[in-house]
Amino acid sequence: MAASTTTARTTHDVLIIGAGFAGLYAVHKFRDQLGLDVLAFDAAGDVGGTWYWNRYPGARVDIESVHYSYSFDEDLQQEWHWTEKFCAQPEILSYLGHVADRFDLRRSIRFNTRVTGLTWDDDAAEWELRTDRGGVHRAKYVISGAGTLSVPKKPEFPGVEDFRGEVYLTGNWPHDEPSFEGRRVGIIGVGSSGIQAISELAKTAGHLTVFQRTPNYATPIGNEPTDPAEEAANKAGYRRIREASRNHFLGVPYTDVQPSALAVSAEERRRVFDDRWNRGGFRLFIDAFGDILFDKAANDTAADYIRDRIRERVHDPATAELLCPTDYPYGTKRPPLETDYYEAYNRDDVELVDVKANPVAEITPRGVRLADGTEHELDCLVLATGFDACTGPLLAMNIVGRDRLALTEHWADGPQTYLGLMSAGFPNLFMITGPQSPSVLYNMPLAIEDHVDFAADAIAHLRQSTLDVIEPEADAERAWVEHTNELAQATLLPTSPTSWYMGANIPGKPRRVLVYLGGAPAYRAKCAEIVHNGYQGFRLTGSAALVTA
Ligand code: NAP
Repeated sequence: MAASTTTARTTHDVLIIGAGFAGLYAVHKFRDQLGLDVLAFDAAGDVGGTWYWNRYPGARVDIESVHYSYSFDEDLQQEWHWTEKFCAQPEILSYLGHVADRFDLRRSIRFNTRVTGLTWDDDAAEWELRTDRGGVHRAKYVISGAGTLSVPKKPEFPGVEDFRGEVYLTGNWPHDEPSFEGRRVGIIGVGSSGIQAISELAKTAGHLTVFQRTPNYATPIGNEPTDPAEEAANKAGYRRIREASRNHFLGVPYTDVQPSALAVSAEERRRVFDDRWNRGGFRLFIDAFGDILFDKAANDTAADYIRDRIRERVHDPATAELLCPTDYPYGTKRPPLETDYYEAYNRDDVELVDVKANPVAEITPRGVRLADGTEHELDCLVLATGFDACTGPLLAMNIVGRDRLALTEHWADGPQTYLGLMSAGFPNLFMITGPQSPSVLYNMPLAIEDHVDFAADAIAHLRQSTLDVIEPEADAERAWVEHTNELAQATLLPTSPTSWYMGANIPGKPRRVLVYLGGAPAYRAKCAEIVHNGYQGFRLTGSAALVTA
């Protein structure tokens, strides 16, 4: 029997794509606070977004949970208890399940339903959204909470379908927790996902082979059980903490950054690096010296420090050297955080294989064959090979805007957005944490709340008048793209050959910066100024007036 489909044709005020942090908050905001008729969709079987799919062993948040959480509801903040400083995936999924229950969100979400098309109807001035279950839904406004890291990179290894063992993608991990006990496991990829998974897989696999192309600057996460006194202080001071977070480049309430790594003595530099290393999280990256991401000489001091610490932790000097990044600056690829990652390589049953010098040639039925003919026999292969970041989730939805303009065409040379939130020719489509917004360089739940609030305020503003269409002006969009590119050129980011921040991890993807690098406070100030100036750079129109004109 064919799978059941929902061939419903329905009309709403707002359609919402995704049921992760963004989609859930959007349902609550538009339905419960603005009183609008909303319908949301998610390809997953339940809420959670990235935390629904990324169930691999070791998956864990790497901004403190107390900060990586919603701020919109005081009671929610007060009642939820995080058991650890940096919680593991199951607990974050429980939190999002709790949010869905608490605000009764699931009744507005169609699960197991993937959005396959989105077309702007110029005559009706509304969007038509199609799903893989045959549904056709229309609304004036669409909120995309499709995520930034939700489309896994396609495996680029010939023969992967012929492998006789099991293949797992970290970004689409099965729900039934596969066992690796005593098995020969291979993993390709040492980004944040790979590094978290390796630390755990090393403990259970019979033999673990890590295929590494580019080593990473991983630093300790510093996870620990929640300290009750700290939790009480956080709960008492949430208002202040959230404000401090929103006024910080990365959206965390860190306050110890010093201006320049080059302005202090070597001893002071070492003291600062040791302190941030020991305190964990992103402190070394973002709370040590303000010029690390901008000045190569400053960056070298941090990179040297991290390499020294890696060498201290890995017993075999040759393995330690292989694990030391040398050909790109620290932070130009998203720095992973780790627990006992480097120690995993001190085990006899963990092997590091350099696939930069000797690339993966193919996956054979038995395992992984390298360019020199060496074959590594495996029972299981884990692909931690990353995502088509930021643009991938939007481009996957076949979005067609005004005058039949496809988003794939408009973005053929890289994303074109205004504020990383809307795109010219795609009216009333809000891309939450879209490309060229701070997104992944901001604390995601806060970035999401800011964007959903912006969209809600804009729609409320339209509804106070006879207007109902908002769209960026082409000039404003061009200027924003130029501005984001200029900001990136002032940093070291473009120097990384494979960073997904620059789209450089996907063959054929345009090399364009995908994030806004001016920091969350500057971005938020810009948004506020634009609103204050009457939505400067946006064109606000009324479809009724247009139709009858
Ligand atoms: P990633 O950072 O893009 O890492 C992908 C890895 O796969 C890299 O080591 C890459 O090597 C390797 N790779 C890709 N194609 C390859 C090939 N053909 N041959 C050999 N190696 C190949 O992806 P990710 O680890 O999934 O992380 C993506 C982002 O998700 C993170 O940066 C982070 O923002 C987010 N994330 C967050 C958390 C968290 O908050 N706790 C956890 C996981 C992920 P090259 O570097 O040489 O390309």
